[in-house]
Order: sequence, then C-alpha cells, then structure tokens
Amino acid sequence: MSLYEPPSTRPSRLGVTLETYILEGMLGQPHATGAFTSLLNQLAFAAKLVASKVRRAGLANALGYTGATNVQGEAVQKLDEDANQTILRVLGRRHHCAAAATEEEEHVRVLSEHPSSKYLVVFDPLDGSSNIDVNISIGTIFGVLHRYPEGKREERAPTEEDFLRPGRELLAAGYVIYGSSTMLVLASGEGVHGFTYDPTVGEFFLSHENIRVPPRGDSYAINEGNADLWDAPTRDWVASLKRPNSEGKRGRTMRWVGTLVADAHRTLLRGGVFAYPADAQNRDGRLRLLYEANPFAFLFEAAGGAATTGQGRVLDVVPERLHQRVPLVLGSRLDVEEYQRFVERGG
Ligand code: ZN
Repeated sequence: MSLYEPPSTRPSRLGVTLETYILEGMLGQPHATGAFTSLLNQLAFAAKLVASKVRRAGLANALGYTGATNVQGEAVQKLDEDANQTILRVLGRRHHCAAAATEEEEHVRVLSEHPSSKYLVVFDPLDGSSNIDVNISIGTIFGVLHRYPEGKREERAPTEEDFLRPGRELLAAGYVIYGSSTMLVLASGEGVHGFTYDPTVGEFFLSHENIRVPPRGDSYAINEGNADLWDAPTRDWVASLKRPNSEGKRGRTMRWVGTLVADAHRTLLRGGVFAYPADAQNRDGRLRLLYEANPFAFLFEAAGGAATTGQGRVLDVVPERLHQRVPLVLGSRLDVEEYQRFVERGG
C-alpha cells in the first residue's frame, strides 16, 4: 500500500497509532504541512500527560494532598488548573502555536510572536471537572484555527480578535474523554476517528475508524431540572420525545451525565440528541462557544450529524467575545432538524 493514495481508497487503518495516523494523513494531503502534523502530535502528547494526572486524581484525593502540598513539598494545583498549565506548556514548545485561548484564563495567552507560528488553539482543559470527586468521566476539548486565514503573514503579535472567527474556519477539532478508558476523538479534515489509549504502551491506537452519527437515535440528553425555565418550543419538543409513537413504540430514553464530553461522546457514537438550550436564567445558553460548542459542532458535522443554536448553525456564529456562551443542540441530523422545527413553529 502506498502512503500517497488518497485516504478514502486506503484499506482500514485500525490499530495504527495516532502518530502514524496523523503522519499518513499529512502525506495524503498536499496542503498539509509538517507544522500542522507536529501541532496535532503535541496536542496528543498533552492529552497523555493530562490523562496520567486524571488517573491518579482519586489517589491524590484519598491521600489528602490535593489543595495542600505533595510529597516533594510542592503546592498541588487543582486538576483543572494543572491540566491548563500542562497544555499551555506543551503548546509553547515547538512554536507552531502562536496563541491559545483557554476556558481557564480571561485573556488570550501569546505563546510565540514569530510570524512563522501559523496556528491558534482554543481549548477547555478539563470539562466537567466538578465530576472528578464522584469518579465520573471528564474530558479535554480543543480546536485549531489558522492564524492567517487570508494567507498573508503579519509582523504582529496575535490578539484576542484573531480568535473571534466562526467555527466553520476550524482546521481541526477533537476531544479526549477520560472514561473507563481514555479515548481521543479527532476530526482533522478527513472524517472523525477515535483512538483508545493503551496505558501499558503509552500510545493511542485507532479503535473507532470513520465514526458516523446515526441519522436518528433513541435517546435524548437535557437537564430536566431546568424544565420550569424552558421556553414553549423546548417544553413541547421534550414532551414529544417522551410520547410513544403511533406504532406504540415507547418514547425516547433520557440520558444525562452532566459532563459535555461524556454526553456528546455517547451521542456521537449512538446517535440521538444533546441539548443545552437557552432558558429564562441563561438567555445565551450555558456552554462556551469557542471551547465547547464549536469543536463539538465541527466534530458532529464531520461525522454526518448537526449542531444548531436554535437560531441557526453553530459553526456560522461569529463570536463577539472570547468567553461567549451559546445555546447548543447537537446530535443525529434528523433529531436536530426536528428540534429546529419546534423552534420555528414557536412550540
Ligand atoms: Zn467545559
């Protein structure tokens, strides 16, 4: 098999390492550069470091040294802060990433002012970190943007404005889920693929090749505790999901973990719909556009699913602020379209 065949004609690559996959992907795409490959590998490396800390978090809690000092006498940071610093440190090493915007920090972090540093990275270092204490899956979410969308290099430091671009401009997006196993799911231009971490080898291996969201699913995920705050379309839509259909098939199953990464991961693999709509208390929704909604909207569209704010495609929203929130409904294409119809009808 030649590495230069276009990806779609290649035989299955199940079992290859993430690094090999990324490298082969680059060889198949004439526009891909060594820098982009190297950046994706850096993100994968950061994921391994965070995974190893997450795995020991229970132990750290049990031994009571979180929030205090560890055996070396160093202050032990909270895990989400630690994950944030780890990812920034790794991204700062090879000068591919000019700047990063993270959910943990108010302002953009400039990592390289060199004009040849071509990429911007957005990330949520540890989504669902409050679930650590109860041993529930948490995750890391990331997206990669080109620093120079128009292609011309500029002799200036990257700024916050450089990040205020719609999600459709993402070059790649992915997430890592620290669940019963650690998995990295990546969309980098040719479908969506899942890699499972083998801790005995220290590598991610391709385990879920070419993930496609089923066109319709059996479950829905929404925080029912907010039901009194929902608008009429959302209320009517959820009621319709619970109703048995005309053939007597029971209503949909409700699933809710409360960690975006976990709920979205299940929805990506099994189909169905995940919703965090706007409500009377959160008029712009709860989730962050740059670090949460956009990477997942990108992944779902790349896997044949859909993502809407209720007012339109998530990936078309032009951000006004770094930490902007947005309503998010994503999942199987037909299920998302059905939600959209309730919104358009007004309930
Ligand atoms: Zn988050």
